[in-house]
Amino acid sequence: MDNGKQKNKKLTTASGRPYVENENTMTIGPRGPILLQDYILHEKMAHFNRERIPERVVHAKGTGAFGTFEVTNDITKYTRAKLFSKVGNKCRVFVRFSTVGGEKGSADSERDPRGFAVKLYTEDGNWDLVGNNTPVFFVKDPKKFGDFIHTQKREPETNLKSPTMMWDFWSLNPESLHQVMILMSDRGTPFSYRNMNGYGSHTYSMINKKNEKIWVKFHFKTVQGIKNFTGPNAKEMRGIDPDHAQRDLVDAIKNKDFPKWALKIQVMTDEQAKNFRFNPFDLTKIWPHTDFPLIDVGTMELNELPANYFAEVEQSAFAPAHIVDGISYSPDKMLQGRLLSYPDAHRYRLGVNYEQIPVNKCPFAVNNYQRDGHMRVDGNSGSNPNYWPNSFDDIYTDESYKESPMNLDSTVADWYNRNAPGEDDHYTQAGWLFNKAMNEQDRKNLIANIIDAMSGITGPKRDLIINRQLCHFFRADEKLGIGVAQGLGVDLNSIMNELKAAPQHA
Ligand code: NDP
Repeated sequence: MDNGKQKNKKLTTASGRPYVENENTMTIGPRGPILLQDYILHEKMAHFNRERIPERVVHAKGTGAFGTFEVTNDITKYTRAKLFSKVGNKCRVFVRFSTVGGEKGSADSERDPRGFAVKLYTEDGNWDLVGNNTPVFFVKDPKKFGDFIHTQKREPETNLKSPTMMWDFWSLNPESLHQVMILMSDRGTPFSYRNMNGYGSHTYSMINKKNEKIWVKFHFKTVQGIKNFTGPNAKEMRGIDPDHAQRDLVDAIKNKDFPKWALKIQVMTDEQAKNFRFNPFDLTKIWPHTDFPLIDVGTMELNELPANYFAEVEQSAFAPAHIVDGISYSPDKMLQGRLLSYPDAHRYRLGVNYEQIPVNKCPFAVNNYQRDGHMRVDGNSGSNPNYWPNSFDDIYTDESYKESPMNLDSTVADWYNRNAPGEDDHYTQAGWLFNKAMNEQDRKNLIANIIDAMSGITGPKRDLIINRQLCHFFRADEKLGIGVAQGLGVDLNSIMNELKAAPQHA
């Protein structure tokens, strides 16, 4: 109703009382004190004081756009999701890109993974694919998440970013190595949000009409091509334009140069999952393309800028828990942890009714008995019943959406053994990245970026941390280890002794 375009142009208070004066407060005499009854002054100041909502703890700096997703290939043999029922089906999307560790005002070209969160508004509900520009992550268990993020934030005493904290944590968590190497490569400083891929990262599942389930990974491949800053160029851009990635997206869409991504999937049967040499639900691992080739699915285009940044980007809320029929979860521990933590974060940051905010609201039918709560502004379902079952409405639960039950290999409740077979190899895939995926220039830049980042380690534990991390690089690839050790001026003999003595696992 009130979209700022109503005919009455009078300046008013929030309750609709016309202003008679907007620049001068009411005083006793021309030089006397201000009167308490100048309510308009109070309202202006009080609202201004409350303009900020809690910043996201992670992914605080971001930008977003609306667009369209179109299905280009038939994947109905894998999924019964309505969206994929026919080639040519389309839906609206909202995408938010972000950095991870920095605050809301931090620079876009920081070395960091980039968030790549996609909300697809489908007839069966909103489907959120909340991923990053990397196919893996630093930790494979959600219990480690908060500790890891603390190392990316500010040091408690000095309030400074601390390479010592970061490398201390990584060197004590060999499972981080794969993602650390992607982060330290030039992919850690993408040229723009348009020039990077997005990955669902987790293993999800798809269920078809016959209720058959397969495991799936999602990849959004940039049609613009991968383009990165080198380490020095990224540092330079921080000074030239800290908002360069936001500006790049806004300019591209304003100029109708709409960015596109091709959505592809990798699929794995349960049988293959049982025989795969890595745990397929481990977020620190990829599924090799040669064994699990990419299958075309569709195209996503971003073509509409939000009309208001706060309303639509700052208040947007994504959750991997938001799936649709035909797409489901997996036992990926990090995914399971995020199913809880994302909606929990939104309830804290935006309130329990965050899914009624227009950008988050499902544009199709939503029926339930959730009522009241802070900022319930949608009429609260009026006089409809607020309990179920009842004799007054015809809302029902639809059993046709039921998934087949999940078979478990074990019924033993125990702590996860991170040194078990399939779990304990932190080095092979990191080695593949260095040897198979990277070219000579990528490798050179990776080593230079690592040396630059590790040079910031200070304090009494400096040598311990450096040596421990060097052991991981050596185990991934000897050339990598030697390159970094030489760059840091470390005696190679001492590392070789350390390598022989130290256990590989953690
Ligand atoms: P492939 O040769 O089949 O795949 C290599 C993939 O690596 C490429 O398709 C590309 O993924 C990605 N890649 C290429 N250059 C770089 C780079 N400089 N930095 C980071 N990633 C790069 O081999 P595998 O599938 O067996 O994977 C080998 C290694 O490649 C993995 O250990 C992993 O670190 C890395 N990788 C693999 C991905 C995958 O999904 N298989 C995705 C990203 C990285 P893309 O086309 O998605 O950009």
